[in-house]
Amino acid sequence: MKSLTLALVLVLASAGFAQAQTAEVKLTRLDCGDMGERDVAWFSDAHSFDGVKKPFVASCYLVQHGSDYLLWDAGFGTGAKKDDGTPIVTTTVLQQLATVGVDPKAVRFVGVSHIHGDHTGQAGDFPAATLLLGKGDWDKIKAANKSDDPLVHWVSGGGAAEPVPGDKDVFGDGSVVMLNMPGHTDGHHSLLVKLKTKGYVLITGDLAHFHEAYDGNEVPGFNTDRADSLASLDRFKKMAKNLNATVIIQHDPRDIAKLPAFPKAAE
Ligand SMILES: [Zn+2]
Repeated sequence: MKSLTLALVLVLASAGFAQAQTAEVKLTRLDCGDMGERDVAWFSDAHSFDGVKKPFVASCYLVQHGSDYLLWDAGFGTGAKKDDGTPIVTTTVLQQLATVGVDPKAVRFVGVSHIHGDHTGQAGDFPAATLLLGKGDWDKIKAANKSDDPLVHWVSGGGAAEPVPGDKDVFGDGSVVMLNMPGHTDGHHSLLVKLKTKGYVLITGDLAHFHEAYDGNEVPGFNTDRADSLASLDRFKKMAKNLNATVIIQHDPRDIAKLPAFPKAAE
């Protein structure tokens, strides 16, 4: 009888656990800027792209987990301009959240792949969110202590920040995981999202900026660590293969169509 009770408790406990793992997860791609055509020579330290131009976009991602939200990357700031003076951002993250009916206050986490300004620009619109970013980048931005940094709200102690030293299972059930992918910057991270129907989605951050760079294991000359960059590409590609994941390169407009067109979400 005792063992039956124990078995029942175990069954109920595991059922509860399973329920915790099946919070509804949805992934929506947000437009976070269009940079137009760019000279991409400096995205290879081996001269692979000399004289090459490519179109660049900036993308952000809204990840719904039950009633919680993670905003992955915060794009360009609204004042950013192209070389010809036209604005890079034509629709803000806040405007897009309004379109999908998400209260900005429901965004519990703002996770940034790294501290470059094309990934942090609109973070300040979510002051109540906990900032998640790689510890290497957090240390750098703390040391720089710039008053005009888009993350100044957190750097100055005005908001909750969680420096992430390795991987981070954001909601604790394995469905949304920040992946430690250093090299582009010291604390650079990519994002893994597990969706019920679509399966695994791997979002690069700036592990690579476009397909040819990803396929060729190219390392931009401005990355902080060449060996780390290659090791991160190796890990990311193995993971993509093992999980049969959809790989999304955030700056490559050719990857926009891998997710449903906004405002539709992938599930
Ligand atoms: Zn970038």
